[in-house]
Amino acid sequence: MKLVLLGPPGAGKGTQAKKIEQEFGLKHISTGDIFRENIKNKTPLGEKVQAYLDGGNLVPDELTIAMVWDRLDQEQDNYLLDGFPRTIEQADALTEGLQERGQALDHVICIEVDAPTLVKRLSGRRSCPECGAVYHVVDNPPTQEGICDVCGHELVQRADDKKETVAQRLDVYRAQTEPLIAYYEAQGNLVHIDGDHPVDDVFAAVRQAIDA
Ligand code: ADP
Ligand code: AMP
Repeated sequence: MKLVLLGPPGAGKGTQAKKIEQEFGLKHISTGDIFRENIKNKTPLGEKVQAYLDGGNLVPDELTIAMVWDRLDQEQDNYLLDGFPRTIEQADALTEGLQERGQALDHVICIEVDAPTLVKRLSGRRSCPECGAVYHVVDNPPTQEGICDVCGHELVQRADDKKETVAQRLDVYRAQTEPLIAYYEAQGNLVHIDGDHPVDDVFAAVRQAIDA
């Protein structure tokens, strides 16, 4: 099975992706995580992309598409894309690349949340740089403040979750990524999910969409 999770930054894609990965055995592929990992390890790709992430802007399509195919061609058939595609050009590259390989997406799930809630979620997000677990200081705190429940590493606030960068990321989403909703509606495999509910309730809707 192949899924795409669509939705604005802070909608809960990463949070739901972890649950989908566990329940459906799909490999979670987050382009944001891959870029951050490369930045952390100071790879040539990391050096190229750091300024884009810090500024809340998208990494150029050519670089992103090449990186994604490099990764997808190492994967088996079951994966979940989180944070890709983010532009029409990326969506076209995915559609065409899958066609060339005789494959197709099974579902595109769009998680929707209003802007004030997104800002609240992003400003309270804390992430584990070691294992990628995601928390919220109020809505989903770790058992011990500032410490990851999963691996015991110290939690951090992502550089791009600072207030100014959050505003830029939401603008970029509206201008460049939101048009993908109509794109996938036209392909006929988009499911809308209201993300403004507790994590487990959102997951129940996601599960229903996948099972349908
Ligand atoms: P995305 O991957 O779409 O950017 P995340 O999964 O990282 O979003 O979630 C953003 C923030 O919102 C995190 O702090 C997370 O703990 C919190 N969060 C995610 N889903 C929910 C939810 N359903 N209700 C409340 N907070 C949530
Ligand atoms: P995310 O972790 O999904 O919030 O992504 C963090 C940042 O990584 C984004 O703000 C972009 O700078 C970059 N990024 C992630 N995915 C993509 C993509 N598909 N296209 C371009 N840039 C991306």
